[in-house]
Amino acid sequence: MLKINRIKNMSQKKIDFICPPGASHWVGDGFLMTNFIPYQKGLSMRDMDPFILLDYGTKIYVKPGGEPKGVGVHPHRGFETVTIAYHGEAEHHDSKGNHSIIKKGDVQWMTAGSGVLHKEYHSKDLAVNGGAFQMVQLWVNLPAKDKMASPTYQALTNAALTKVTLPDGSGVIEVIAGDYKGANGPAKTFSTVNVMNVKLGKNGKADFSLPASQNTALMAVEGDFLINGVKLPEKNLLKFSHIGTDFTVEGKSETSTLLIISGEPLNEPIASYGPFVMNTEAQIQEAIRDMQTGKFGYLPD
Ligand code: MN
Repeated sequence: MLKINRIKNMSQKKIDFICPPGASHWVGDGFLMTNFIPYQKGLSMRDMDPFILLDYGTKIYVKPGGEPKGVGVHPHRGFETVTIAYHGEAEHHDSKGNHSIIKKGDVQWMTAGSGVLHKEYHSKDLAVNGGAFQMVQLWVNLPAKDKMASPTYQALTNAALTKVTLPDGSGVIEVIAGDYKGANGPAKTFSTVNVMNVKLGKNGKADFSLPASQNTALMAVEGDFLINGVKLPEKNLLKFSHIGTDFTVEGKSETSTLLIISGEPLNEPIASYGPFVMNTEAQIQEAIRDMQTGKFGYLPD
């Protein structure tokens, strides 16, 4: 019996650390964010390669009758921004002429590539009527060969996400990118990444298997969890080490939402300066020049 348990446990993913939230700060005047990647617990842009940023938005309540709040026009080059709406709505405009409202449960997967200007605000509806607002934003690095890809934009509505209902009905897995037990998410990606939400009822339980070679982390967006029997409180991030493949997620709150991010590292040089993430300093200087000379296009305030 002992022998069987030992074999079973060998495939269990080992937890590297659990990271509590640090101080939060306002991004623009509409997003109350906590940076987990980089900055927390010594996490650099390399430690979760190809995920170079994870900004956790605290759930806020927007008072009715105001003007939309958010972040004005700013550029990006060299990576993808992924915005996941958990509560409320965000409105997006970019210099490629895209305009959309990311509603509760929706995901916006924007490939900045060679460069875009965009702005992100609460939707008009949310500003007028008020309500809860919560988003998480990820930055997914692009492989060197794709950094100057044409900017594109995937508006993934919640209905378009792949839903896997747990056999006992205790929850649902929403696959955004990659796959869960062979069910593929709709996002087109440039490298191997898995991004999914695990939405559970009280004591709902799901099991996962992700390659040991991938960088894998879990963000407790809402509610408390047990991960392989270890407590993961709300607003904490758990990072796995590169030992083992399997883990179980158990919801300990009435309802709970966990974000799983996992990807094969690109293992390429990173040069970053604010909204530009490239491979060399020369490419950063080029990005600044291109931005100043209007090569990112135009977007009014
Ligand atoms: Mn942005």
